[in-house]
Amino acid sequence: MKAMATGLSVCAPRRQAGKPLTVSFVAPCYNEEANVEAFIDAILGLWDRMKTDIPSLGSCEIVLVDDGSSDPTWDLIRSASRRRPEVVGVRLSRNFGHQAALLSGLMTARGDAVISLDADLQDDIEIIPAMLRAYVSGDEIVFGVRSDRSSDTVFKRMSAHVYYRLLGALGVDSVYNHADFRLMSRKALDALMQYGERNLYLRGLIKSFGFRTSTVEYERKRRERGQSAYTLHKMIVLGLNGITAFSVRPLRLFFYLGMTISTFSLGYIIYSVVMAFMGVTISGWASLIVSIYLIGGIQIIGIGILGEYIGRIYIETKGRPHYLVEEIARNEEMDR
Ligand code: UDP
Ligand code: MG
Repeated sequence: MKAMATGLSVCAPRRQAGKPLTVSFVAPCYNEEANVEAFIDAILGLWDRMKTDIPSLGSCEIVLVDDGSSDPTWDLIRSASRRRPEVVGVRLSRNFGHQAALLSGLMTARGDAVISLDADLQDDIEIIPAMLRAYVSGDEIVFGVRSDRSSDTVFKRMSAHVYYRLLGALGVDSVYNHADFRLMSRKALDALMQYGERNLYLRGLIKSFGFRTSTVEYERKRRERGQSAYTLHKMIVLGLNGITAFSVRPLRLFFYLGMTISTFSLGYIIYSVVMAFMGVTISGWASLIVSIYLIGGIQIIGIGILGEYIGRIYIETKGRPHYLVEEIARNEEMDR
């Protein structure tokens, strides 16, 4: 992305005091035909309610990114943007994946505060007033944290738990049970624009900024319409991105493992030689086979891990854009 490549060296100041607060809602949509209308209605309904509670609120926009859907998602977004001035549609040229689609939405958003969430309404929008209050009181980033994952499958819950533990063990600073439901201030967004990396793991990157943050808990709901597009493969890729983007400890671990195995082998060599001098033959077909397979397996895993890092270096050096925008649908008559 151009803005990412250029980068900004100075973060924008916080919104001028007294000026109405503009808010952008950003949702990536991949085959969300069943959710687009419901999402817009839910957000606009919430907005109306919030306006009475939070007097500093000005206008809002809803940025919906069509991540190369094969269903009529884009037609729905485009027609909604014609009917409602708040709706801004971004159509990517193909499916670039959730993180890239989200990034494109964040880069398109113009609000003082930008809230990212899933289009399927699994993220509980009722905590958004609390997020905005945290922003008004000075937090630059507010993370939505899942207090309850009972709507997820047992597999998803277990793998998420193991993964967060693993991240912690590898020294990656992450927010436990936070996906991409979060509020970011303009200052945090400007900071994000300074990062030019291709390997996108937004939740980790944003946590690393060091700005004032807070968390708001919510219960993740079940998906009511449409289907999850997050396949196991996509989850693994995202997980690997999270690790490789922030930690080189897996490489170091293999160094230590190699050292340990070599030390043991040296001991065993000395033992074998001494035994040979003493005329004792060590029978060893089983131990030989086991150690060949064991060391072979460890080596291949090590090469695989090395490959994950090298592959990412390769991708980074090409500096290709994260996504390409095919079309933007925005009602220019919108009063901002
Ligand atoms: N999504 C996307 N591109 C993709 C996959 C998903 O933009 O390639 C969007 C999807 O429309 C939804 C959000 O990312 O708004 C989360 O996806 P999903 O609900 O499938 O994931 P889950 O909630 O099952 O983890
Ligand atoms: Mg979902």
